[in-house]
Amino acid sequence: MAMDTEVATDSEVVIGLEVHAQLLTKSKMFCTCSTDYANAAPNTHVCPVCMGMPGVLPVINQGAVTYTIMTALALNCTIPEYSKFDRKNYPYPDLMKGYQISQYDIPLSKNGYLLVEYEGQARRIGITRVHLEEDTARLLHFDGYSLIDINRSGTPLMEIVSEPDIRSPEEARLYMQKLREILVYLGVSSGRMEEGSLRCDANISIRPRGQQKLGVKTEIKNMNSFRSVERALAYEAQRQVELLRAGIPIQQETRGWVETKGITVAQRSKEYAHDYRYFPEPDLPPLIINRAWVEELRAQLPELPDARRVRYMDEYGLSAQDANVLTEEKALGDYFEQVVAASQVSDHRARAKAAANLVINDVVRLLKANSISIEESPLSPAASANLLDLLERGRITGRQGKEVLEEAFASGKMPETVVQEKGIEPPISDQGALERIIEEVITNNAKVVSDYRAGKTNALQYLIGQVMKQTRGQAKADSVRTILITKLDETPPA
Ligand SMILES: [Zn+2]
Repeated sequence: MAMDTEVATDSEVVIGLEVHAQLLTKSKMFCTCSTDYANAAPNTHVCPVCMGMPGVLPVINQGAVTYTIMTALALNCTIPEYSKFDRKNYPYPDLMKGYQISQYDIPLSKNGYLLVEYEGQARRIGITRVHLEEDTARLLHFDGYSLIDINRSGTPLMEIVSEPDIRSPEEARLYMQKLREILVYLGVSSGRMEEGSLRCDANISIRPRGQQKLGVKTEIKNMNSFRSVERALAYEAQRQVELLRAGIPIQQETRGWVETKGITVAQRSKEYAHDYRYFPEPDLPPLIINRAWVEELRAQLPELPDARRVRYMDEYGLSAQDANVLTEEKALGDYFEQVVAASQVSDHRARAKAAANLVINDVVRLLKANSISIEESPLSPAASANLLDLLERGRITGRQGKEVLEEAFASGKMPETVVQEKGIEPPISDQGALERIIEEVITNNAKVVSDYRAGKTNALQYLIGQVMKQTRGQAKADSVRTILITKLDETPPA
């Protein structure tokens, strides 16, 4: 895009992200209501606490504190010895008690960072803080009236605030994707942006290259996919650059991303900015964070995506690209490892390479074609391993393998069962028989053979196809190719 080049030459884009992630605890942040309300009727997962009734007392969900500290540790943050909750006061219909319980000056963690791979370099994005708060209720707008669903009210919400260290819309998307990977690996969030369990607001400003002072920023809301984060920021960067070029100052304001139009629109200007009048939450005790407990959580952190990528390259000899694809989704990597563990292919690295190829090229393609996730795959890791073993043992050819795979995926049967039921014959292992078929094909296709000798490369492909047809796919394509070339070279021209 021309605009990116222009921004890159004389000015610099400065972006900071505020990410909200709903935590996967069973109950809400300050009451015992279930958070499993996704398919529930409105206002069925509620109690006096999350409805904001006066005179009730909140109780801190320890699981939510644990998840927040785990996330903070994974993001290299410092955990203070003492933390507290505060009231953030603002009036809005989705916040029945008139304030949100959040954290103000002493959050559960601060001063971390996240490494993002951008244009082949590791970029360090600072994490200002990771804190804990509660989600609000949800307003549903209709023609002339609105309804409120309180099920979401009080769901634990973790906020991850970055430093303004991000320098392009693409980098913002990469940061979001990396952050999501980590949250999903930790098991603290579903990471589903499309369902609103992971949300992102962005601050963006433009400054002349080399200047330290930040330009006037706008805040962008309503981006609900990784793609919309990148698109919205690219649009907003261009809008600001054009205003500045025209000598028009940027208004500090909140802007909403309109996905259908591909633009941001002004929502709220600075004059209406809230004074939240934060003060310590009087109904909750401060949190004393036990050091031994923090160290215990640190020791128990699961393997994170970066470490897994490195292990796949070191232990299995996979390429960086394959390792990336297999670790982006934790469940896909888990599946791959189960295939490797179940397969009997003798060479460790060959087994891993074959499993990686099968998962990346075939399983992922079939999942996409059927719009299902790896967790729902009808082809189990054991079935994938079984297919690799049949190929390794030479029981089926690569071509037959494709057919067996499709059938096993569709039916959920083990590949060896599919082979039996379909009566698939073992490949032609008799070298003599294969050579006779090849000689016959050469004799019967004199015209194509002379084309081949005249240097037409697709003539060879045609002859291989003829042999495969004669053998009903029971010959291995690479041996057919080798024998065919040898025979063609030794048979004198007619
Ligand atoms: Zn409740």
